[in-house]
Amino acid sequence: MTSPVTAPGFDLLVIGGGSGGVRAARIAAGHGARVALVEQHRLGGTCVIRGCVPKKLMVYAARFAQEFEEAQGFGWTLGEPQFDWTTLKRRRDAEVARLEEVYRQGLVSAGVDIFQGQARFLDRQTVELSDGRKLTAAHVLIATGAHPTGGEDTPGQELAINSDGFFELESLPGRVVVQGAGYIAVELACLLKLLGAEVDVVVRGEGILRNFDVDVRQHLGKALADLGLNFHYGRRIIAIGKTFSALRVALDDGRRLEADCVLRALGRAPHTHGLALERLLPLGLEINTQGAIAVDAYSQTGVPGIYAVGDVTNRVNLTPMAIREGHAFADSVFGGKPRSVDHHLVPTAVFTTPEVGVVGLTEAQALAQYPNLDVYRSVFRPLKSALSGQAGKNTGKMMLKLLVDRDTDRVLGFHGVGPDTGEMAQLMGVALQLRATKSALDATLAVHPTAAEELVTMRTPAVRYGLA
Ligand code: FAD
Ligand code: NDP
Repeated sequence: MTSPVTAPGFDLLVIGGGSGGVRAARIAAGHGARVALVEQHRLGGTCVIRGCVPKKLMVYAARFAQEFEEAQGFGWTLGEPQFDWTTLKRRRDAEVARLEEVYRQGLVSAGVDIFQGQARFLDRQTVELSDGRKLTAAHVLIATGAHPTGGEDTPGQELAINSDGFFELESLPGRVVVQGAGYIAVELACLLKLLGAEVDVVVRGEGILRNFDVDVRQHLGKALADLGLNFHYGRRIIAIGKTFSALRVALDDGRRLEADCVLRALGRAPHTHGLALERLLPLGLEINTQGAIAVDAYSQTGVPGIYAVGDVTNRVNLTPMAIREGHAFADSVFGGKPRSVDHHLVPTAVFTTPEVGVVGLTEAQALAQYPNLDVYRSVFRPLKSALSGQAGKNTGKMMLKLLVDRDTDRVLGFHGVGPDTGEMAQLMGVALQLRATKSALDATLAVHPTAAEELVTMRTPAVRYGLA
């Protein structure tokens, strides 16, 4: 056992080796700071180990199912495709381990000292690791992320898994009940269905992806139903039980669903437990009503020298935002270049099939601020659908939408459902950042034949708000 020691003081101690913490540590070290980083599990955090990266690899795997089917419309004859979960999991896990090592090497070459263990505060500048070692630093950055929440207590909930458990599944469950309708629920439900599971989705509200634009929600809901997901809207799970050979899920309308796996995706909560933050409360640390660490635009908490970035602050819980906050913090405190982070105009994608890409205001948000709003919307069959066999289905239709303030001609929002709309959202993000006008899109020549050309060829608004 390592004997308790107090390491010499650091300029910066980062707690959490995920997206935000790793970026902050590397940039601060690059500015000349002496940096320590403590990670209790694996370097890379949620995104690399049990989030974005392994999820997207599984989405790629799942989409082959549709492509094999579509290939026949283009003249291909295929044998019966076989999918092997074990192979996918082994190769996925190897890639995750490779990336973890890349993260480690990045930190080491930047000169960051890495400590394995769980950190908790002893005082403002001292942290104790689970093995008793003590580290001191002039500045401490809390970048401990978030963890899955459980929702209200449900009898038998211990029989269910969350997204962390999903990535540990050793085989593809034949029947899955997914609870929730947010990013994780729809992404994982969709990829499980494409890989061959029967999937029921229990949604407490009347639709999926509550905070998204109305047309995205409706279009995607129909497409996912066409894909074969069984949605149970306006329903709650009241109990999960076990039969001899399966799990039995009781819904509040009296129905029972049989499943091999119940996956709960009910949101994530800031990960603050175990840090002994109560020791910092008298010094001015604030935990807000959602359990997140309250910070200002520079990620400074109420305690001088203590900062927080990423999901633990529950601002915009996406990897690129955690990275940006971590980078801005390091530049501000150690690089002599104070800069705050803008939490508006966030491009994001939902990796369902079809996928969703959005940036900017939803129709409801835009209308609340811009009464003279034009809504351009195009629902169309991309060329590939003509032969793919998807033409008659909602899965084969795309929806692209632009919101334009008529008074200034500015494009306020882009919303898309269909292949590559995540990629489109990235570029529309640039356009919106440059305050693009609808006239500028109109003046842009189309790339033909593409689906994205619709974005520069929509001429007539589908809806015009604010006209007498
Ligand atoms: P994390 O990456 O969670 O890192 C926090 C780290 O702190 C963890 O490694 C943890 O072990 C460590 N830690 C916690 N407490 C302590 C302690 N006391 N001592 C030491 N270490 C500690 N975002 C996207 O942008 N795109 C996506 O496609 C996407 N897909 C996702 C899919 C899933 C299934 C999930 C769950 C999330 C997804 N996200 C996605 C969200 C994204 O993963 C997070 O927003 C991002 O990882 C947050 O980074 P972070 O640095 O704040 O925290
Ligand atoms: P979300 O906040 O996106 O969704 C939570 C879902 O759970 C909602 O549908 C919500 O319903 C439902 N819910 C909450 N409590 C209950 C309950 N008690 N009973 C029934 N349903 C309930 O969280 P996720 O867990 O899906 O994802 C967490 C975050 O991770 C995301 O918000 C996003 O920031 C990030 N993420 C990003 C991804 C990406 O960029 N592609 C992918 C995955 C995650 P209601 O709508 O009614 O509130």
